[in-house]
Amino acid sequence: MDITLVQGDITLQAADAIVNAANSSLMGGGGVDGAIHRRGGPEILRECRALRASHYGKGLPTGQAVATTAGDLAARWVIHTVGPVHSRTEDRSALLVSCYRESLRLADELGAASVAFPAISTGIFGWPLDDGARIAIATVRDTPVSVRDVRFVLFEAKAYAAFEAELSR
Ligand code: ADP
Repeated sequence: MDITLVQGDITLQAADAIVNAANSSLMGGGGVDGAIHRRGGPEILRECRALRASHYGKGLPTGQAVATTAGDLAARWVIHTVGPVHSRTEDRSALLVSCYRESLRLADELGAASVAFPAISTGIFGWPLDDGARIAIATVRDTPVSVRDVRFVLFEAKAYAAFEAELSR
């Protein structure tokens, strides 16, 4: 597996699967979630609504992953995963590990050869970038899958720097 880093907007990437740092409602939100729904168009939200009406009546639990169409994005699937909100009093890192692992496993099941990830939980959910980068890279390295190309797409320079430091470790 090749792990590469890109600084930029994940909605402009071409990959078999693009991972969304969603919230449990699956109804869209701010940050990368909002950007994916805006550029991907209404088809993604339609499938999210159908998921809420069927398997995920209470929403998608934190740490789990589910796939929909990618709508107008240059991808076959969007994989929605719900990161944990960072807490200073409770260690929620197993849930962040689970987001990367379950997203990658789902991509593998779907037959995706390339997957683009954002830095899950490091925006509105407040996860410190260095620790988020450490968990992201270690988990992807430790998850045995046939996916060949894993790309982390980091929106901000400081996120890119954190992932670069971690990848060269
Ligand atoms: P969370 O709620 O999981 O923290 P956010 O979307 O707020 O999700 O932030 C996750 C990460 O995604 C942050 O590092 C943020 O800077 C980044 N981000 C925001 N918009 C984009 C985008 N269009 N492409 C890639 N990353 C993005």
